[in-house]
Amino acid sequence: MKTLPFNQAQLEEIIRQYPTPFHIYDEAAILKNLKRLQAAFSWNAGFKEYYAVKAEPNPVILKLLHENGCGMDCSSYTELMLCDALGIRGEDIMFSSNDTPPEDFEYARKLNAYINLDDITHIDFLQQHGGLPETICCRYNPGGNFLVGNTIMGNPGDAKYGFTREQLTEGIKKLLTLGVKNFGLHAFLASNTTESNYYPALARELFTVAVELHEQTGANFTFINLSGGISIPYSPDASEANIEWAGSEVERAYREVIEPAGMKLDLYTELGRYITGPYGYLVTTAVHKKDIHKQYIGLDACAANLMRPAMYGSYHHITVMGKENMPCDHLYDVTGSLCENNDKFAVDRMLPKIDIGDRVVIHDTGAHGFSMGYNYNGKLRSAEVLLRPDGSTKLIRRAETPKDYFSTLDFLGLFD
Ligand SMILES: *Cc1c(COP(=O)(O)O)cnc(C)c1O
Repeated sequence: MKTLPFNQAQLEEIIRQYPTPFHIYDEAAILKNLKRLQAAFSWNAGFKEYYAVKAEPNPVILKLLHENGCGMDCSSYTELMLCDALGIRGEDIMFSSNDTPPEDFEYARKLNAYINLDDITHIDFLQQHGGLPETICCRYNPGGNFLVGNTIMGNPGDAKYGFTREQLTEGIKKLLTLGVKNFGLHAFLASNTTESNYYPALARELFTVAVELHEQTGANFTFINLSGGISIPYSPDASEANIEWAGSEVERAYREVIEPAGMKLDLYTELGRYITGPYGYLVTTAVHKKDIHKQYIGLDACAANLMRPAMYGSYHHITVMGKENMPCDHLYDVTGSLCENNDKFAVDRMLPKIDIGDRVVIHDTGAHGFSMGYNYNGKLRSAEVLLRPDGSTKLIRRAETPKDYFSTLDFLGLFD
């Protein structure tokens, strides 16, 4: 069952203030979910979630997460700027970048962020651009397929990220000679998975490699970063990852692998989707109905507001407000207005009969939703609204205007 944090009357009240389309985020639900994650890993005194900023880079939401114990996982200059502007610095930032521009490393070092190195050649590159810190993290790519039992969870052999196993040994030896004192180890081996087993399997692998590296090189490991990748139940019949079970299985791997080696580590995660994904909604209005070879419902939003269905064919659940209990006896393609035939929020979806003016709410847009937005066809990004725990709302990003769209042409003097 997919639920909403507002009913039809409440949503109409909100729309009176903010015209559709907009994304709205449920603050209470985000924080409740974060606390659940933190509780699942509370056996590890140093546990910290570094929220993946790219998932939903709104400063109001980032501040809320930071006030509730999160650090931030950044991978670009502007994501670092967001943290800097919020006073989030030092060990509250994990800079997990790849193909990194020199100025990004310099800025991350200036903020004293943790640096998660993506490649062995970045040792010299970072030395030249910002300098090496006392503590550094290395990203591991074991290659091949990442198997849990007989299930293929990911395909690191095809992924551009990380050091090979041999490069980890060589790189860490080099970092030790260059004066680095403490190490972290990171890997992201499966993306968008609801398998509860993913974190336990990943943790066991990273713990094992950290113990080996410690024995081979003498390096002092202080943390393991399990990165992101835990998914959410996008469709009503999908199951969710059992985070409590995952937390206790990671603990078991820790007791079996890390403690016998006499090591002590903090555990970090870099979840994005899991934290905010289910608690964002794209609120739209049906503006057109079209009956040709198929039946189409045209919304006032498009793939520029939510790219995942067009890009990955992802399922996003749809609720037609006020028609929650009506039979889903109409077959529709629900579209946006881009001149691209993949601009469809749903294809062949059974829904209640939709009329022009109906409010159509698209679920699970709280991560990789607004943030993947773009300006193709001259489409403008929507507003973002925060639904507060007391039911009030707050505008946390205004909608773009044509002036924003043309702002990079300002020097031409065409739109003054
Ligand atoms: C994208 C990304 C994440 C977050 O991924 P989710 O699927 O949102 O959990 C975390 N770490 C790194 C390095 C990433 O690139």
